[in-house]
Amino acid sequence: MNTSVDEPDARRLAGDARDGNLPMECRICWYLYDPTEGDPVGQVSPGTAFHDIPDDWCCPRCDNDKSYFLPAT
Ligand SMILES: [Zn+2]
Repeated sequence: MNTSVDEPDARRLAGDARDGNLPMECRICWYLYDPTEGDPVGQVSPGTAFHDIPDDWCCPRCDNDKSYFLPAT
């Protein structure tokens, strides 16, 4: 299951200038998602912005969905 990670994405290009590459933090368990590292557990490639992660991705530590993540600035 490693097919369409390199697919061009207009939203990603637009978002990178603003918040696309900011780390995101789970507000339940404080797991930090770093876009430069991705998530090896969840099969997210390094360099994947948080908003480009599939919506069915869950926090690898507490299993809550993306809506529980906040920007870690
Ligand atoms: Zn979590």
